[in-house]
Amino acid sequence: MGILEKKVAIITGAGRGIGRVIAVELAKEGASVVVADIDENTAKETADGICSSGGKAVSIAGDVSSPEDAKEIVDKALEEFSGLDILVNNAGIVRDNLIMRMTEDEWDLVIKVNLKGAFNLIKSASRVMLKRRYGKIINISSVVGIMGNVGQANYSASKAGIIGLTRSAAKEFASRNICVNAVAPGYIETDMTRNLPEEVKKAFISTIPLKRAGSAGDVARVVKFLASPDSDYITGQVIQVDGGMVMA
Ligand code: NDP
Repeated sequence: MGILEKKVAIITGAGRGIGRVIAVELAKEGASVVVADIDENTAKETADGICSSGGKAVSIAGDVSSPEDAKEIVDKALEEFSGLDILVNNAGIVRDNLIMRMTEDEWDLVIKVNLKGAFNLIKSASRVMLKRRYGKIINISSVVGIMGNVGQANYSASKAGIIGLTRSAAKEFASRNICVNAVAPGYIETDMTRNLPEEVKKAFISTIPLKRAGSAGDVARVVKFLASPDSDYITGQVIQVDGGMVMA
């Protein structure tokens, strides 16, 4: 029997990349999974893949930056699986530029999707979790939210904001047995990073003590731990999955 048997999980941005691997990993442990993504087709592909390997999953198209869509995603979990135990705020975007050249739209969009998106889902999901007196919320931050990065002022600010949001939510919800933690990946090989120039990739890897990029699986296994009863005494923490890149 899987460690997440009878648990219901929402994973945002699970149409591809790290989110898809998290959805598959939680489903393998027995969780019923709501695959949410702005792209209806990729969300369905993830859910179909899980169902065809014997897991339980449904998909829903939704933009996390919309409070209405966030509510619909939570309602989907209630309608399909009659509950909600785990929320993984994974959806994220980049619009990189130097501050001098960054447009207002590039700033606003990244904050709206990455930071407000997580707030929207937490707000909707917590209504259910507070009543049930149980919940695991895992927010995907980034090491650049801790160390900053040239050309990523908007993204770094959104990911640093995720850490403040995580700790505030952890304090607000602790009395109702809801644990809120963040995972801060370092350099992970996905579509988001695949197109980086080779010299940038090499420069990143030279700063990683373990001397390799991480995989989506490296992140997903930590999310699984934070979603499981094995982490019941952990809340308000930021776990870096970065090969030792940032040792604070
Ligand atoms: P990807 O770009 O591969 O996947 C992100 C997914 O989120 C896509 O399916 C995307 O849809 C979806 N998405 C985008 N905007 C929205 C929205 N408004 N509402 C709902 N879904 C949306 O990213 P990764 O898998 O690489 O990253 C996942 C998370 O991990 C992000 O939060 C990212 O910031 C974080 N992270 C990644 C690192 C890395 O090295 N890759 C390092 C540190 C953190 P669509 O396909 O339409 O774009």
